Amino acid sequence: MRALVVDVADIRNRPAARRAEHIEAVLDGLALTGSAVPAGAGVVVEVMLESVKEGILATGTVAAPWTGPCRRCLKPVAGDARAAVAELFEERATEGESYPLVHDQVDLEPLAREAVLLELPQAPLCRDDCRGLCATCGADLNEGSCRCVPENRDPRWAALDALRPD
Ligand SMILES: [Zn+2]
Ligand SMILES: [Zn+2]
Repeated sequence: MRALVVDVADIRNRPAARRAEHIEAVLDGLALTGSAVPAGAGVVVEVMLESVKEGILATGTVAAPWTGPCRRCLKPVAGDARAAVAELFEERATEGESYPLVHDQVDLEPLAREAVLLELPQAPLCRDDCRGLCATCGADLNEGSCRCVPENRDPRWAALDALRPD
């Protein structure tokens, strides 16, 4: 059985019956271009499963650590992705709206994946005012200015200016 498949036979069809679940599982492939959950790191799912008329309602949080390069200076950055979830599991699941409830079991993995992927930063920053790398010499400008002459104008704009009559 997969790590995030949970049996709900005990609360199913018992209106308002609920059970708390706290599961940690390693899920592969949680990555965007800018950041990723490191290999072997656990995704923590903490949800209250509640029996409702339509099926089982899962509400709580999904959390996972991430790492990725700073988008300006490329130094490694780390953080935690944390998402609130409130999802319905029902026998006749509707794509994009609810998840399937099969044989009195709910699989929290798709829910966890979706929640983490939505929270991963696409372009992390080591700090809000990171000065990045010099485009000319590659020096880390957080450690001081380099000796390059600052280039204020993009040459492509100069070419456009030359085409303008005035
Ligand atoms: Zn940086
Ligand atoms: Zn430079």
